[in-house]
Amino acid sequence: MVDSQAQKARRIQQNLARVLERMAEAAHRSGRKPEEVRLVAVTKYVGPEEIRWLVEAGCRLLGESRPQALWAKAATLTDLPIQWHLVGHLQRNKVARTLPLVQMIQSVDSLRLLEALNQQAAKLGRAIPVLLEVNISGEASKTGLPPQELEPILAQLPEFPYVQVQGLMTLAGLEGGAERARRDFAALRQLRDQLQPHCPEGVRLDELSMGMSSDFEAAIQEGATMVRIGAALFEGILPD
Ligand SMILES: *Cc1c(COP(=O)(O)O)cnc(C)c1O
Repeated sequence: MVDSQAQKARRIQQNLARVLERMAEAAHRSGRKPEEVRLVAVTKYVGPEEIRWLVEAGCRLLGESRPQALWAKAATLTDLPIQWHLVGHLQRNKVARTLPLVQMIQSVDSLRLLEALNQQAAKLGRAIPVLLEVNISGEASKTGLPPQELEPILAQLPEFPYVQVQGLMTLAGLEGGAERARRDFAALRQLRDQLQPHCPEGVRLDELSMGMSSDFEAAIQEGATMVRIGAALFEGILPD
């Protein structure tokens, strides 16, 4: 490795340590255990080389928002023990190619996608864990299901035995800053609590995937079990 590469690798290691430390502090502040919150490192800004450093630094759970980027990265990093999560929109015509590569799809945003996933997972003979993505802020630019659509979808889950819904995912609204983000995260938790009694037998909405680089501490205080962090892990590596 040339020197600058060693420096970059070290910088990623430091960034990761700092993020994990901040996650643990946020957990302690809200009376939670650090191991209740998992880090999903979102690698959409970087290539295979940086991802390799991140994995060598101890990060195993990685997220990509675009299916094609996930395919390409997964294909060049097959030697690493990575667990991939898709965190962005999945079109149904990309389900077949994506499913064998991922451990979870966090961004299920329609009943039709749920159907397609069930069909393909049945073919593979392997159930796929998913989260339902909720547009909790109501912003038109946001993807995700409107909150009122969740209850009918949950009622239909017994028709999709190869899809295991494990919780909810959201992105906080863009406007309104930290206060707004915190309210959105609290709203997702409250929605989960309301929906839990309406879940079919065997379905539990334990996972709450919420919080990114700018707002993950608030998300942890509001009950996140997974935070999806990109930019904070690659500070000092990316061009500004
Ligand atoms: C990019 C992205 C993230 C990470 O955002 P950062 O601000 O870079 O931490 C999280 N979730 C989704 C769905 C994303 O697309």
